[in-house]
This record gives sequence, C-alpha cells and structure tokens, in this order.
Amino acid sequence: MREIQVDLGRIQTNYRTLKQLAQPAKVMAVVKANAYGHGMHVVAQALEEIGVDALGVADLNEAIELRSAGIKTRIMCWLLQPSDDFQLAKDLEIELGVSSFEVLTKVLEVGVHHLHVKVDTGLGRNGFVQADWERLFSALAGKSISLFSHLANTSEEADLKQQAEFEAALEVASVHGVEVTERHLAATAGTLSYPAMRYEMVRVGIGVYGLNPDEREFATFGLRPAMRVVARVANFKRVEAGQGVSYGYRYVTQRPTNLILVPFGYAEGMPRIAQGAKVLVAGKSFEISGRIAMDQFVVDVGDLEVSIGDEVVIFGDTENGEPTAEELGASYGSINYEVVTRIGGRAQRVYKK
Ligand SMILES: *Cc1c(COP(=O)(O)O)cnc(C)c1O
Repeated sequence: MREIQVDLGRIQTNYRTLKQLAQPAKVMAVVKANAYGHGMHVVAQALEEIGVDALGVADLNEAIELRSAGIKTRIMCWLLQPSDDFQLAKDLEIELGVSSFEVLTKVLEVGVHHLHVKVDTGLGRNGFVQADWERLFSALAGKSISLFSHLANTSEEADLKQQAEFEAALEVASVHGVEVTERHLAATAGTLSYPAMRYEMVRVGIGVYGLNPDEREFATFGLRPAMRVVARVANFKRVEAGQGVSYGYRYVTQRPTNLILVPFGYAEGMPRIAQGAKVLVAGKSFEISGRIAMDQFVVDVGDLEVSIGDEVVIFGDTENGEPTAEELGASYGSINYEVVTRIGGRAQRVYKK
C-alpha cells in the first residue's frame, strides 16, 4: 500500500562518484539516523560490499548496532555522553569523535580504538572551542589522533574562515607534539565545493543518497536520488462543486471533479502542513487538497480517471518528472534532509539492487 523504494545500486554509484571526486581523500559515508531514512543496516551492507572507506554515525548506539549487524568496516561516531559504554566501543573497535573534556577523560581512562578530536571552528555546536585548545592538546601530547570539524555552510567566506580556524587548531596540536594522522572537515557541501578542504578524508551523507546539500546545483556530478516514495490509491470518487475536503474543509471543490484518497499520512512522516505539495498521478502533477491526516490525504485530480490501486508518487527522481524530496521540503519550509529522514511509519522499505 505504501512503499519507500530504496535503490542500493544508486547508493553504491553515488558513493563511487563521490570517491572519484574526492580522491585521494578517503570518503566516510554517513549512515546516521537510519541512513537518512534509507535503512541503516542494508545501506551499510551495500556500502561495505563496494569497499567503503569508513562509516559515520552520530550515536555510539548506532555504531554498536552496525557491529551487531556484522559490519566490519571502520566506524566512527561523534555525539557522545560521559555515560556511554567506552569499554564496549573499544572492544568493538569503534572510533570515537570527542568534543568535551568530560568524555575525553573517560575515553583516555578506558582506552580507545582510535580517537578523533573535534574542534569547533565556528559552527557553535559540538567540538572544543579555541580557548580550550592549549589544555586539550597538552592532554594529548605524544598521541596520534584524527582531527575534525564541521562547516556551517553559511557562505564561502564563512567556510574559509572556518578552514583557517581548523588550520590554527592543527598548529596548536603540532606545537604540543600531537600527531594528527588524519584531518577531516568537509561534509557533502564542502566536498563538492572546496577541493582544498578534502584533506585526508571527507564525511558525506546527503550526497550518498543522491540529494542536494543546499541550494547550489550539483546535478552535473551525476548523483541520483536513491529514495522513491509511492502509495496506492485507496479510494476514488466523483463529487459535486462545493464539496469540502478533509478536516476543517481547507479545500473546497470549485466544480464537479474527481477526488482520490492516498493512504500516506503524517504517521508516515508526511508533514501535516504540506498541504499544496505536489504529487504525481498517472504522470501528471497535482497538488494535495486539504489537510493531510494521520493516515491519508486527498488529491483533486480534475477529470482524470484513476483506478483504486494506481500508484501515486510522493517523491522520487526529477528526471522522471516526479516531485523531489527537495520540493516537498520547500513546500513546508524544510529541506530534503528532513523529508527523507522522517519518512517511515507504516510504509515499507523495499530494496532494489
Ligand atoms: C551529518 C553529518 C555529516 C554529513 O553531512 P551531509 O551534509 O549529509 O553530507 C558530516 N559530519 C557530521 C559531523 C555530521 O553530523
């Protein structure tokens, strides 16, 4: 009835494309948050099959899940708490991205498979701020680490300023005798935009799934969306002019017309406020009519004849004229990242090789 179709072949091709682009830098594929809604285990497996350099997740629990699923590739996680089980992380050879002294102290006590230290170069989120660098790198004197940071994607100027901060952190590390064996700064947007920011490794998430990291065009690299979301029409009816549609009658038909019922609601991650978003019915684009409900929404398809069971594309590949995750996001003031990550509920993931 509702399917999230994930094309693993495309994920593999997108990874290879990014790898080709970034080489000689290594490419970490980010599979956090259930691989941005694509299914973490299956995606990790498909990437391991083609020799992915490393996998990245946020939580230690996600990394542990990957090991439990039999993933042998390098895994790094970077959103840690002092209460996390660092002994288990070490035993499972999970690499840790550390951003606070509280976590660093624990990690150094227990030992760590490989330590990545995060510096805040201007994003204002995780990472050690500049005022802490002396103390940080003194504590790490004589050790071998990876150093990383994350860009804010605000403007080229701001990104370059962050890179300069990153270089300054490297300098402080060097002065204290910390050996930085691997530097990583760029996510997808940085990887595509700044060859000089690729260093020894990049961390790409959205690009692996074939989606745009922001407003900039990057279709020319040939990345293609791996997720297509469809639902099958559950009801079809002819109604008169003046028919109120869905809760609160936020849509009222202007003339006799055909309505279809699409069984895909906010329980599936279809935002309730996305009224007016476009979907594809029989190759034609229509707007969602009226409120999106928990299980379903309605589309006024005019005089189009539609059969119960016909496929409606909620988003997919622009090259087939389908609406994109980006367009759905834009229809309610959001972005493709949020769209694909929240899609789920009762919709089934179906994988294609
Ligand atoms: C999510 C995340 C990424 C991946 O970002 P994309 O824009 O999806 O490529 C990289 N690094 C960190 C630290 C992240 O949290």
